[in-house]
Amino acid sequence: MRYKKRKYFLAGRINLIQRSKIRELFEKARKMKNVISLGIGEPDFDTPEVIKEAAKRAIDEGYTHYTPNAGIPEFREAIAEYYRSHYRIDVSSDDIIVTAGAYEATYLAFQTLLEAGDDVIIPDPAFVCYAEDAKIAEAGIIRLPLREENDFQINPDELLEAITKRTRVLVVNYPNNPTGAVLTKETVRAIADIAEDYNLYILSDEPYEHFLYEGAKHYPMIKYAPDNTILANSFSKTFAMTGWRLGFTIAPKQVIRDMIKLHAYVIGNVTSFVQIAGITALRDRRSWEAVKRMRHTYAERRKVVLKYLEEMPHLTPFRPKGAFYVWAKIDPELDMSSEDFANWLLENARVVVIPGTAFGKAGEGWVRISYATKRGQLIEAMERMKEALSGL
Ligand code: PLP
Repeated sequence: MRYKKRKYFLAGRINLIQRSKIRELFEKARKMKNVISLGIGEPDFDTPEVIKEAAKRAIDEGYTHYTPNAGIPEFREAIAEYYRSHYRIDVSSDDIIVTAGAYEATYLAFQTLLEAGDDVIIPDPAFVCYAEDAKIAEAGIIRLPLREENDFQINPDELLEAITKRTRVLVVNYPNNPTGAVLTKETVRAIADIAEDYNLYILSDEPYEHFLYEGAKHYPMIKYAPDNTILANSFSKTFAMTGWRLGFTIAPKQVIRDMIKLHAYVIGNVTSFVQIAGITALRDRRSWEAVKRMRHTYAERRKVVLKYLEEMPHLTPFRPKGAFYVWAKIDPELDMSSEDFANWLLENARVVVIPGTAFGKAGEGWVRISYATKRGQLIEAMERMKEALSGL
């Protein structure tokens, strides 16, 4: 299409959003041959067969129309049932809204809870969407550094210091992207107490809950601060369903009711047959067996990556207990920024890793390595990195 040359006008709000800084790195990688990407935050597995079959059957059975805005009642019930049986949390299906992944949950939560000028506390480093969604909500952003000496958990004392009179929301994301950190029960309890004392909502984004290693456990925030938690979860990682756009939010009734109002005019409802497949994902034994297999495979790969990194010069891994990322520290002696390092690695090893600064200023000096990549590729990437870094 050839558009007429004319002056367009755009809302200022849209310029608040920053496109991902790592696009250039990916662009550069795309133009090169024989590159292995450890940059992607997406399972390399196919969606379990039983879930795909359920979606196909649902189409044939006529699930091709609008559904209630909040989601198909049986699916919401299956989600409530999952929390009751997995975590012994008494969730009611009325407190659930089915969303287009966890992305939508953050958008809805911030738009529903934050007035212009309110503050939201976002850890640093953190997954990229929180800060951008906060900007669209015209909220003030307070970054709360996560420290290695604290295993990248939120430090309750530092959290207390960060709270302002206008702080309304705190973002919590464990198992964590990008660090792979998990929270201990004590920290979850401490955060829950602070949220209650200061009347904050916690947006707890928990899509990696099933990817845990070395005996780590997940403590859903909602269990410890039920009146203050907006729980965002997703089928994307658990069931390798990123393209299906299926997730959900659980929150106190008055919040959910208002989130549904916005959702109704943005999404309407999540795709009908995808919701039906979601029921199978949660209720069928075979889909959970697939999750278990994926977890074992990730665990094996995690070991491989850690072993290589421990032997490799110039990179020191933090030992992650969750998700499918390794957060590795760049040797300060190299005197390279995260971005320079990632570029250097692309040029010299033909491997893509994500510079830590993509996740916030506190990510300087670090890179994120994703092991959601086939074992053979992963080993090849590690060999290449080892060779390139040994030459430095
Ligand atoms: N939250 C975190 C922490 C993520 O890592 C991701 C995806 O990488 C998302 C949310 C978005 O997931 P979804 O596909 O459910 O929208």
